[in-house]
Amino acid sequence: MPGAEALLYNGDPDDRQREKVLQAAAACPVRAIVLDPDAGVPAPRPAAGGGTSSSVERIVIVGASLAGLRAAHTLRREGFRGSLTLIGDEPYEPYDRVALSKHVLTGWVSAESTALPGNDGLDADWQLGQAATGLDRLNKRVQLGDGHAVDFDRLLIATGVRARQWPRPAEAALEGVFAIRRRDDAAGLRKLLAAHPRHVLVIGAGFIGSEVASDCRELDAPVTVVERGPAPLAGALGAAMGHVAAGLQREHGVDLRCGVSVDALEGDAEDRVCRTRLSDGSMLDVDVAVVALGAERDVGWLQGSGLAAGHWGIACDAGCRAFDVNGVVTDDIFVAGDVARFPHPLYGYQLLALEHWGNAVDQAEIAAHNMINPSAERWAHLALPVFWSTQFGIEIKSIGVPTFADEVALVQGSAHTRRFVAAYGRQGRITAAVAFDHGMWLEFYGRLIEQAAPFPPEFPVVDPPSSRRPVPAEIHEQALPQQATVVLTGHDPSERRAVLVHGR
Ligand SMILES: Cc1cc2nc3c(=O)[nH]c(=O)nc-3n(C[C@H](O)[C@H](O)[C@H](O)COP(=O)(O)OP(=O)(O)OC[C@H]3O[C@@H](n4cnc5c(N)ncnc54)[C@H](O)[C@@H]3O)c2cc1C
Repeated sequence: MPGAEALLYNGDPDDRQREKVLQAAAACPVRAIVLDPDAGVPAPRPAAGGGTSSSVERIVIVGASLAGLRAAHTLRREGFRGSLTLIGDEPYEPYDRVALSKHVLTGWVSAESTALPGNDGLDADWQLGQAATGLDRLNKRVQLGDGHAVDFDRLLIATGVRARQWPRPAEAALEGVFAIRRRDDAAGLRKLLAAHPRHVLVIGAGFIGSEVASDCRELDAPVTVVERGPAPLAGALGAAMGHVAAGLQREHGVDLRCGVSVDALEGDAEDRVCRTRLSDGSMLDVDVAVVALGAERDVGWLQGSGLAAGHWGIACDAGCRAFDVNGVVTDDIFVAGDVARFPHPLYGYQLLALEHWGNAVDQAEIAAHNMINPSAERWAHLALPVFWSTQFGIEIKSIGVPTFADEVALVQGSAHTRRFVAAYGRQGRITAAVAFDHGMWLEFYGRLIEQAAPFPPEFPVVDPPSSRRPVPAEIHEQALPQQATVVLTGHDPSERRAVLVHGR
């Protein structure tokens, strides 16, 4: 792994080393160091009564990936001894998606070598290659694609998100067109990148699109990035920071075109992508097209279940309990990871939907704990969101919620050298911080965010910038999902109901 912050994996550190690793992991706000909780760290105290809630004998987890696996481990670690079933529609054991748009595409690791640690020895019934197709809440039963059903006392929904596909199916089906969410996507794209493509098109300059562009440049492949918005990463970090990312891309030889969209992908006689037409009228010859248009929460299998599940995800409370369609909390169905929308007190109790590795881990552990503990002993998911990305040799790390802010100020370093911390603020308090190659300071800013410290921060800092004057963060309002709406029926409080209406 390149970079000054890289550590080598050591499966059996001595005591001194172990202590150092534990300290470093505790201090690392972006979970760059992952500890196996079963190896050397004392398990949390068992639930009251020396065991788990006695009425919980069957737990089903739908979604056998990061959040699902982490929840399963937590359940066993906290003493749950009943039946535990993991249902996953992919044929593979849980793997780490983070590596797919980084080390897999550049050939550092193969797609098959991305398995998450800890599958072996987990006492669970794995149902892989098996999609959940329905939920019967009344009878507490998950319906499976093969016609079988699994009963539960508690259910965890951890079905994540899917890559948004190119909207025109015939163009999406052309050979050489990829969206990256799954292991097979990355393996297929790696094959083409390794074969020295003539020109790669990346549609969308969010984190994944930008990482793919970075991989292309590392492999010396010519790449054009087409972004409809004003700058790369603008959707997540605001356009002010996005302009810094744009500079980074151009310095590394990316042909970056912002404020432009792709109108069409064209194929040759063998149905291979060969050309693209852009909204500014220009044409480009390309032989690989990567669709990086964000993700969709695919909750179709929950239609008719009565849960508050739509294209926005599945709403839940801070204890990870799912809301039903009326907004009333359920007590036996929990949600964790990318598919969840949960309220965060620091952000005005707004429902947050995060596609962050760290959030999936934190939320899964809280959900698992709450599934088997009495209500008085339940925990709230109050972790600060953290995210990281590696692109063009720079580690970008974020803590808090940048899109909640209206202003941003450089607080350490310099944007020119691409080594800085920017603090985000809203109405006079700090709400997020983003570091480019300066991640070591984020823990400090995390504490300021937790304390609702004043913005802009005025304390003395190491490596001060020439100016700390805030500028507009240029966060663009996210369009509300249009695909599903809710209507209200009934008049009397006893019969008043919300009904989901799909496809309006
Ligand atoms: C290419 C890529 C790079 C990333 N890089 C970073 C990064 O650098 N930093 C960071 O913080 N985050 C990163 N992420 C995000 C991170 O990987 C996710 O936040 C994390 O995977 C979420 O875990 P999850 O378990 O909630 O969802 P997922 O990992 O999406 O897992 C959900 C699982 O449920 C399965 N499923 C869906 N529907 C059903 C069904 N009906 N029945 C059965 N199974 C079903 C899915 O197939 C999938 O296997 C990246 C993501 C991608 C795709």
